[in-house]
Amino acid sequence: RSNAERFEFQAEVSRLMDIIINSLYSNKDIFLRELISNASDALDKIRFLSLTDKEVLGEGDTSKLDIQIKLDKEKKILSIRDRGIGMTKEDLIKNLGTIAKSGTSAFVEKMQTGGDLNLIGQFGVGFYSVYLVADYVEVISKHNDDKQYVWESKADGAFAISEDTWNEPLGRGTEIRLHLREEAGEYLEESKLKELVKKYSEFINFPIFLWASKEVDVEVPADEDDSSDDDEKSETSSDDDGDDDDSEKGEESDDEKKPKTKTVKETTYEWELLNDVKAIWLRSPKEVTDEEYVKFYKSLAKDFSDEKPLTWSHFNAEGDVEFKAVLFVPPKAPHDLYESYYNANKSNLKLYVRRVFISDEFDELLPKYLNFLKGLVDSDTLPLNVSREMLQQHSSLKTIKKKLIRKALDMIRKIADEDPDESNDKEKNDVEESNENNEKKGQYTKFWNEFGKSIKLGIIEDAANRNRLAKLLRFESTKSNGKLTSLDQYIKRMKSGQKDIFYLTGLSKEQLEKSPFLERLIKKNYEVIFFTDPVDEYLMQYLMDYEDKKFQNVSKEGLKLGKDSKVKELKEAFKELTKWWKGILASENVDDVKISNRLADSPCVVVTSKYGWSSNMERIMQSQTL
Ligand code: ADP
Ligand code: MG
Repeated sequence: RSNAERFEFQAEVSRLMDIIINSLYSNKDIFLRELISNASDALDKIRFLSLTDKEVLGEGDTSKLDIQIKLDKEKKILSIRDRGIGMTKEDLIKNLGTIAKSGTSAFVEKMQTGGDLNLIGQFGVGFYSVYLVADYVEVISKHNDDKQYVWESKADGAFAISEDTWNEPLGRGTEIRLHLREEAGEYLEESKLKELVKKYSEFINFPIFLWASKEVDVEVPADEDDSSDDDEKSETSSDDDGDDDDSEKGEESDDEKKPKTKTVKETTYEWELLNDVKAIWLRSPKEVTDEEYVKFYKSLAKDFSDEKPLTWSHFNAEGDVEFKAVLFVPPKAPHDLYESYYNANKSNLKLYVRRVFISDEFDELLPKYLNFLKGLVDSDTLPLNVSREMLQQHSSLKTIKKKLIRKALDMIRKIADEDPDESNDKEKNDVEESNENNEKKGQYTKFWNEFGKSIKLGIIEDAANRNRLAKLLRFESTKSNGKLTSLDQYIKRMKSGQKDIFYLTGLSKEQLEKSPFLERLIKKNYEVIFFTDPVDEYLMQYLMDYEDKKFQNVSKEGLKLGKDSKVKELKEAFKELTKWWKGILASENVDDVKISNRLADSPCVVVTSKYGWSSNMERIMQSQTL
């Protein structure tokens, strides 16, 4: 086209498209889900803008917030159109090709190591899945701030953009035209599309219509050519009637008086509604089945893996601030959970106000350490007709946040409470191994392996909930036999007279097990916790005590193992020696030389002062380029 401008795809995007085009992936259906999800996002955006400015919706059909799917069997085109926010020329250039999102290279990498294409939506590159089924794609778009444009590409490394002077005006929104590949003919079948919309788009909050054919019987006047046909019919019917009674004959003669018509099958088209727009969170939790929650999670989180969420919580908050919420713990941490943790805005909760989607970038709903949760909050208390900035400062948000944290932590604790592996009571486990228990078995370990670090970050960040979070901590110890254990279990096993909770930090359990600091503790049958994650050093600076018990790093000064009367004697006896040692060791390296009761076999050990860095912390600080 004469007015077309050509652009190269950004390199990573181009690689991604190559992978998709050449993919042998059999589940090509997913493209439709991705397109509908984009349409729904675009509709959410215009609806949000319309809250403060009704004008943006326009008039007539343009103001209808829906999604329309159309098929052209002859030209082999499938088109999906929304009346969402649309894209300006610049949006088209940026969003569909020249600017790679953070997930692009992560997804390319995943795909090269046998990742699942089904998860494409989670990486923010779902649009390109159209090339699973199409070899040529046109995106026609009209944004309120710009003219109508066409983006088109045959996925050959480049795309073109032209001002649209030939298609029908869209009013506002986007139409994606897929020129289907030869082998993708099934997507021209209405039944296939109905099935897919049902399967993938159950929770889309806008009506989805299909331009569907319908066979109808229509009465048409019988023209002359056909009249003989018609006569034959009436003849046969009157033959049949010969055996019947008079009343029907009477009707027959009535018919004959009317002008002659005939019934023919005709194909008409009409918009058929495919989904029923229901909000699962408005229903009573008792009425929603587990299966529905799982499906809802998948669509909300764009997580179409085979795994179910670890748990969920659906509740109504009443009182000053009213809201409904559904929270999920995903089965797996996203690829970028801890990437630029303190800078990025990565909340995964969707905020609705009275069923209208407001934003999924609301930092104010959950603290950062709970960013791994997926879910939704719908509030009746928040005002609808104010800007996002004003909403962000609304006083109710604090209350909502507080309640959400409580519920989230309760929900996580429930995973542990229901996990038979977590219980100490071995016999009870063996007896109660029902199916349900089997499903919950090992779930907390799974949670811990995926999200344990978030709990630790929570302990560091959230002083108000520190104790609740500490309950969720898991670790190995000298008595955990290779399994994870908790602080509560540690306390249960404490020796009588033991006041402190003992722990040791280091690189690995194997390294710590050889530590001379353990010698005497083990001999005396004390349990010592192993903290081997670099974040544990920071964690222990914040976690001072638990259930009135202090934490004692056994490599630091201050270790008390009950009374040992001999120490005083020994101190006296070796006074001269310790003094001599101290004099020899340079004072910038060593504070003091003392007689100790912490060793069993080793002759001496270097201990860190109470407020100094442990040797593990020294190592961590040295390895960091701060
Ligand atoms: P994601 O939806 O995760 O952002 P996609 O690859 O699906 O990633 O879409 C890329 C971007 O293209 C979207 O973020 C959006 O800005 C734009 N886009 C795609 N489809 C539409 C649409 N129907 N209407 C408006 N913008 C769209
Ligand atoms: Mg998308």
